Amino acid sequence: MIPIPHLRNRLFCPGPTPVPQRTALAGLETNVYHRSAEFKEVLIRCRQGLRPFFGSKDDPIIFTSSGTGALEAALVNLTDEGDEVLVVNGGKFGERWTKLAARYRCKVHEIAIDWGESPDPEQLVARLQDEPKIRAVFLQANETSTGVAYPVESIAKAIRAINQDVLIIVDGVSALVAHEMDMQSWDIDCVVSGSQKGFGIPPGLSFLALSERAKSSLSQRPRFYFDFEKEFQGQQKGESAWTPATTLLFSLEQSLQELNHFGAKNMVSYHARMAEACRQAVQALGLKLFSRRHHSQALTAICLPTDIDGVALVKHAKSKYGAYFAGGQDQAKGKIIRIAHLGIFDQFDLLTAVSAFEFCLRDFGYKFDLGSGVAAAMLAISNSDPDSR
Ligand code: PLP
Repeated sequence: MIPIPHLRNRLFCPGPTPVPQRTALAGLETNVYHRSAEFKEVLIRCRQGLRPFFGSKDDPIIFTSSGTGALEAALVNLTDEGDEVLVVNGGKFGERWTKLAARYRCKVHEIAIDWGESPDPEQLVARLQDEPKIRAVFLQANETSTGVAYPVESIAKAIRAINQDVLIIVDGVSALVAHEMDMQSWDIDCVVSGSQKGFGIPPGLSFLALSERAKSSLSQRPRFYFDFEKEFQGQQKGESAWTPATTLLFSLEQSLQELNHFGAKNMVSYHARMAEACRQAVQALGLKLFSRRHHSQALTAICLPTDIDGVALVKHAKSKYGAYFAGGQDQAKGKIIRIAHLGIFDQFDLLTAVSAFEFCLRDFGYKFDLGSGVAAAMLAISNSDPDSR
């Protein structure tokens, strides 16, 4: 293997995503007291800056935890032991809702869908009609393990047409910023997200917004660290219940300033363009998408040729090209590669990702025209650029 001098590591995995230097530098503000008036303003500004990405009525709350912490918080604060819940399970993260709900002794009804597929709104409606005791529905906005974005808006509309009471709880950890979320007009009760994906800062913070319906139906379960009532009350005044990750909040403030400067809607359309360009590259390379419909705008999951070992390819991409791709999990292990185009990620990052992938395919003996994927991605980017003539 010919070593590449000064090779840089590049993150093309669906989280953690790249953190720009200016965002990282903002996090060097270390001599900070989290109960000071100045810091309270930072927390308040971060909460305000998050709201456009949730489409929530109130500013989201911020926890110091990874995304899973906030998923658990949602489960604990919004369900009681013995409650019947419905989970859409179409991948690793749907499975996580099931495991969480079962661990907290809910009675779980599952809609199991094939990996790569997305649920039909009618499936959820039918289950809710069959099981009228279901109190809450849990699903992903973006199933990161399969590269499928679920049609959350249509699902919520279909549910609300028959049921005004059931709680709709959405894991938006990898969806927000890349996909639109409009909790208020879609009538969704809880959306969870995390710092290390679309928001472009390191791991360690999670975000969560609630509807009025959710706020008025909090559970009776015991809880301590993740207590919605306490956090919503305190964070309104800029006070988190516990010591927050202050450095990450400074980075978040910086990142949100930039994201909001560009605008939530524009961020979504930029992700749509990058995702389309990536899919065009896949097609030009003669490969198939793992997602059968509702392709994610945060990442693209690609089926590898059957004679290529995906685990080895992911390793090779890192060791030879410094490129961190994500492989498949469970049933997709070794069979797919996942390329993210999420967060603070621009078109040149995408072209680099595709070129690194092409070099890997070549190294593994796949026959194709080198550069054809990059050319297709460039063309797609150019065709979707209003300035191109
Ligand atoms: N949900 C989804 C859809 C995710 O993609 C992830 C992380 O990849 C999580 C939940 C879990 O988040 P964390 O790893 O921050 O706990």
